[in-house]
Amino acid sequence: MSEKIGIAILGSTGSIGTQALEVIESYPDRFDLRVLTAHSNAALLIAQAKKFEPQCVVIGDESKYLLVKEALEKEDILVYAGENALAEVTTLDSVHVVLTALVGYAGLKPTLAAIRAKKNIALANKETLVVAGELVTKEARKYGVSIYPVDSEHSAIFQCLTGEHMNAIEKIYLTASGGPFRGWSTEQLEKVKKEHALKHPNWVMGAKITIDSASLMNKGLEVIEAKWLFDLKPEQIDVIVHPQSIVHSLVQFEDGSMKAQMGLPDMKLPIQYALTFPYRWKTDFPRFNFMDYPNLTFEQADRKTFRNLDLAFEALTKGGNLACSLNAANEVSVAAFLKDEISFLDIAKINEATMNATQFNTSADYDVYVQTDQLAREYAQNAIQLI
Ligand code: NAD
Ligand code: MG
Repeated sequence: MSEKIGIAILGSTGSIGTQALEVIESYPDRFDLRVLTAHSNAALLIAQAKKFEPQCVVIGDESKYLLVKEALEKEDILVYAGENALAEVTTLDSVHVVLTALVGYAGLKPTLAAIRAKKNIALANKETLVVAGELVTKEARKYGVSIYPVDSEHSAIFQCLTGEHMNAIEKIYLTASGGPFRGWSTEQLEKVKKEHALKHPNWVMGAKITIDSASLMNKGLEVIEAKWLFDLKPEQIDVIVHPQSIVHSLVQFEDGSMKAQMGLPDMKLPIQYALTFPYRWKTDFPRFNFMDYPNLTFEQADRKTFRNLDLAFEALTKGGNLACSLNAANEVSVAAFLKDEISFLDIAKINEATMNATQFNTSADYDVYVQTDQLAREYAQNAIQLI
């Protein structure tokens, strides 16, 4: 490979963003980091910019523009601010791959802009596919770009499918750790505090996805993400709880054979694979030792107690804008939980009420998604006030 891979990281100051920078730092001759962006962590964005010297940076929070601009005055780095800039920087000629490592609905607009500028996407920001999977995958086909999954489960499926393009998928199994409250009853969950929910047994991640993992919403979002990435029907997607997080997911083919992808839980591996596909570059990540894991176990997910997973399957089956509405409600309810405004169990209640109140619409139209998102946020916010 002669030309370096030009990379834009949206959300470089987050959990995925900082791990992606570790990967990029390991291969200075092969990656060329062009764009870094952050929402409000100006100090870390400035430090990253000084270290990696990208072509430009974007700070989402416009009130921090001058701070970043002045700090990078002596560097040859362009500084922008705001939502529109975030979308525009993905289209630079020097960018080949856009890593969407920002969180939530905010990823939709820049991801569409990147696709329309014919950039391949390394997708961590699952919410974009949950909100607008039909539109995003349609645009990706139209502009001939690939969406490489970063989410560990979807990377696992993608790795299992490599070399299998002539073979139909019968079913996929997404593995779930079960989160910190696996096996808990509704009565026990009533007393959950955010400090408990923010402690994931196997992964260190951003706050929103950590709460989503504890409530099984994350697995629900991943079920919908899988539908769009791999063009599956709802009945072809199953979830199995695997507390050790070693088997990252499985594909079952039509002859009954199953392929699984395994490894230690470390997001650097799926991040790197999404950036280097179809190649596997040598790493010194710690290797799996069977004696550390003599038992790999599997159990049924408790969809009754952890209602969010069922809600996601319902949104998946009914289709249209329901998943968009569910996602918006969940962003609002998780933020409220993190501010101690509602209880852990209220998250699913608000999500369900919001989804049920959605005006159903099946057109894969950007404006419909924008409106659905906005209405669902308002509905969820009102529901929170009533609690
Ligand atoms: P995080 O909270 O640690 O980081 C989020 C990043 O996005 C930060 O850089 C932040 O500045 C930026 N950001 C936040 N809000 C923004 C906005 N409105 N506009 C622009 N930028 C904004 O989150 P994370 O854990 O790194 O997760 C990022 C995405 O990757 C999420 O969609 C998550 O579901 C997905 N993901 C994360 C992991 C993980 O291990 N952390 C694993 C799989 C998938
Ligand atoms: Mg995942």
